[in-house]
Amino acid sequence: MALRFYNTMTRKKETFRPLRKGVVTIYNCGPTVYSYAHIGNFRAYVFADILRRYLEYRGFRVRQVMNITDIGHMTMDEEADGKGEDKIEMMARKEKKDPWQVARFYEKAFYEDSAKLNLSKAMVYPTATDHIKEMIRIVEKLVKKGYAYEVNGSVFYSVDSFKDYGKLSGNPIENLKIGARLEVNPDKKKPYDFALWIKDPKHMMQWDSPWGKGYPGWHIECSAMSMKYLGETVDIHTGGEDNIFPHHECEIAQSEGANGKKFVRYWMHTRHLLVNGEKMSKSKGNFFTLRDLLKKGHDPKSIRYLLLSGHYRIRLNFTENGLGSAAETLKRLEELVSNLRGTHKGKPNPEVKKLVEKVRKDFETAMDDDLNISLALGKVFDFVREMNKLVSGSGGISKQDAKLALETIIGFDKVLGLGLDKIKAAVGEKIRIKDSVFTIHWQGVKSRTEVERLIKKRDVHRKGKEWKEADKIRDNLNDMGYILEDTETGIRVKGTGAKKA
Ligand code: AMP
Ligand code: ZN
Repeated sequence: MALRFYNTMTRKKETFRPLRKGVVTIYNCGPTVYSYAHIGNFRAYVFADILRRYLEYRGFRVRQVMNITDIGHMTMDEEADGKGEDKIEMMARKEKKDPWQVARFYEKAFYEDSAKLNLSKAMVYPTATDHIKEMIRIVEKLVKKGYAYEVNGSVFYSVDSFKDYGKLSGNPIENLKIGARLEVNPDKKKPYDFALWIKDPKHMMQWDSPWGKGYPGWHIECSAMSMKYLGETVDIHTGGEDNIFPHHECEIAQSEGANGKKFVRYWMHTRHLLVNGEKMSKSKGNFFTLRDLLKKGHDPKSIRYLLLSGHYRIRLNFTENGLGSAAETLKRLEELVSNLRGTHKGKPNPEVKKLVEKVRKDFETAMDDDLNISLALGKVFDFVREMNKLVSGSGGISKQDAKLALETIIGFDKVLGLGLDKIKAAVGEKIRIKDSVFTIHWQGVKSRTEVERLIKKRDVHRKGKEWKEADKIRDNLNDMGYILEDTETGIRVKGTGAKKA
């Protein structure tokens, strides 16, 4: 099946074909570096990472750019009108630092957090403040072409001049008129026109421009940086759903106005991470940063797993319980990898090849369908279940079969990024029970005393060649929710959590 993505622009799933064969250009709207990114923001970036990794898995070469917003993003930017205070400057006042220090501090923190979440590095992370010249050049072009006008040292985009304004968000200009609830800047010709360049002597960060000193609006940075690094048309542009309007709508007006060319071929937006049904956001105060969660002892891999495990076009409600379940689920995957890495001496089993072929096909079919990761993971866990049965079954599995299964899972992990390639073989623990020493691989076993007693008892029967009795103890353990397996390196005891009444 062909690879298909849902395009916000056409509101349909479309077959994905990049502009240049074999190469995909992606622009991700990145963080505004005025504080630590919260895990809602990271849902958008984990999605961007999965998208990139899956394209690479599919054999494309990916050129990914993620911008760093360090100027011009206002506290009231949910309106096209962009009012309020510059977020970076707001934090600078609060932290009594200069805005540059604030930006560089949180930019660094963002890279650290991204590394903890195992996000692949973008080709470049351009900052807005390093691209003022490029932005000015586009604004000049827009003025020249009649899309923008200057008043008292500020430049605004004339929304009426761009007939396609509203095509992405479905917000027609009539709605904007009603929506422009903010007090209208008297310099603007129409209340819904948005700022490209702003004159404000009180603003801390200022640059020279053909219109005098000022600073750029938020939207123009993405048009400028996308064009500079990826050309006038990019294959994929991502962001959270709140970026659709006004940010991406304005980017289209700017880029297509300036270049007269299609700006983006596929628009992909991540639905929000919610807390109690509401968007996780800085302004609501209902957020967790990655650092908050790590301090509480959560594992970054579980956080990554939680953020990637729901389909990106379905909102995901965050709870710490949910994070606990994500950790458990991930552990199942890690355990199978660990077991497969152990020594195996079973007979070759043609079933393994069949299972591998099936899960590869199912994984790819699900991911090809607009990155349906929840379905893809469901298929992976069907495979985990089947493999566990074979590994713990009486016949065990052969070295070759274990290798094949392992390669398959590690192959999926190129997309999932859960660090499964670093999971080692289960290491046995040497313990003395009465007068004998056993090597035991414990897996998910909480209370060990009773299990140890039965292992010892079984050992006595085995030594006395009382096989029936020994097997009965294994069955008893099974009923208690433990799977016992004799491996070359010791006894593997696995808690299944499924206790028989
Ligand atoms: P900002 O740092 O505010 O510019 O936001 C950075 C990115 O995070 C943008 O792409 C937003 O759309 C996205 N975002 C913000 N809040 C959430 C959320 N609760 N869930 C998912 N994405 C979000
Ligand atoms: Zn952007």
